[in-house]
Amino acid sequence: MTEVTRRIQVMVPMLGEEEEQAAVAAIRSGWVAQGPGVARFEREFATAVEAGHGIAVSSCTAALHLALVLHGIGPGDEVVVPSLSFIATANAVRHAGAEPVFADVDLATGNLTVETIDAVRTSRTRAVIAVHQGGVPFDVRALRSAAVSWGVPLIEDAACAAGSTAYGRSVGSGSTISAWSFHPRKLLTTGEGGMITVDSPEAAGRLRRLREHGMNVSAADRHASAQPVLESYLESAFNYRMTDIQAAIGLVQLGRLPALVGHRRILAARYHQLLADIEGLTPVRDPEYGETNFQSFWVLIDPEYGTGRDEVLAELAANGVSARRGIMAAHLEPAYADVAPGPLPVTERLTRDSFILPLHHALTEDDQDHIVAVLRKLAS
Ligand SMILES: *Cc1c(COP(=O)(O)O)cnc(C)c1O
Repeated sequence: MTEVTRRIQVMVPMLGEEEEQAAVAAIRSGWVAQGPGVARFEREFATAVEAGHGIAVSSCTAALHLALVLHGIGPGDEVVVPSLSFIATANAVRHAGAEPVFADVDLATGNLTVETIDAVRTSRTRAVIAVHQGGVPFDVRALRSAAVSWGVPLIEDAACAAGSTAYGRSVGSGSTISAWSFHPRKLLTTGEGGMITVDSPEAAGRLRRLREHGMNVSAADRHASAQPVLESYLESAFNYRMTDIQAAIGLVQLGRLPALVGHRRILAARYHQLLADIEGLTPVRDPEYGETNFQSFWVLIDPEYGTGRDEVLAELAANGVSARRGIMAAHLEPAYADVAPGPLPVTERLTRDSFILPLHHALTEDDQDHIVAVLRKLAS
């Protein structure tokens, strides 16, 4: 392959023949909407992330919205979120009718800390959504106990964090409520899709109802019953259901998770080695209390590097490498121009001076050598 025709994608979903066969089997079963496949995927996902109950939904954005509805959050309420996140985190707050309040993040992990949340908390703060950013776990012990002392629910945006660990356990373990994504940009995909995991069975029951029009009995259970079941609608709610076709694919994907994470961590370690002697580039690493799945392998540029972020992206693109800007900051987007946040210096530095390198199952050592060679040439 010549250098000009080379094309290295930033992310490639791992989809094989097994996913294809699973989708076909779901279609042939005659049950394609939410049914037994979704129920099985929920159980197996919850087990895999060490959570009590799984509730499959149509996206992580839907999961975050339902988490806020579950806690009764609405107009007049404030929800503390990081600005440094995919915009869905802040959007979910607005879906619930509440106002996002942006907190700054830690430079090394890209995550909220007890201090950054505390700096923006007010008497109207009704919840905190903390993100395990790009797969890097936040300090779950510190944030979970702080949330308890503040008396507000901690909703965990684990969109990127399937396979990440904190204190030796899955980030889903010990979380009151977490939201997960199966968009193809994440490690596990069902095309679109999401999951809520919760520890309380009461919360699980309410969430199942909220995602299915507020019905007291699921369509699948009604169908499976030998007796006629008259459903009733207990509250006005949503259609946030996942399909059994998606769940069939998700079950196969879930089986791949340990190997996917293991392989990503090997490739990430190799990036670390190759980048070590380039001055002014700091790649994301494991925090001391946990392990990231390296969903996003971001690199922070310091002034010593001598080349700015946009130039780095342009040069990588010219060499066939599809890298990305670092994680976005919602408060800098037109959609949130009406929010006047306090100072967010670390957020602005990370979003301005970082970029994301390709990392996926199909990335070769040769690809990595090529990418690092481009970065080395740009160093001053
Ligand atoms: C991708 C992502 C989401 C949205 O997930 P969808 O399943 O696409 O709705 C939310 N939060 C974070 C941090 C994400 O990375």
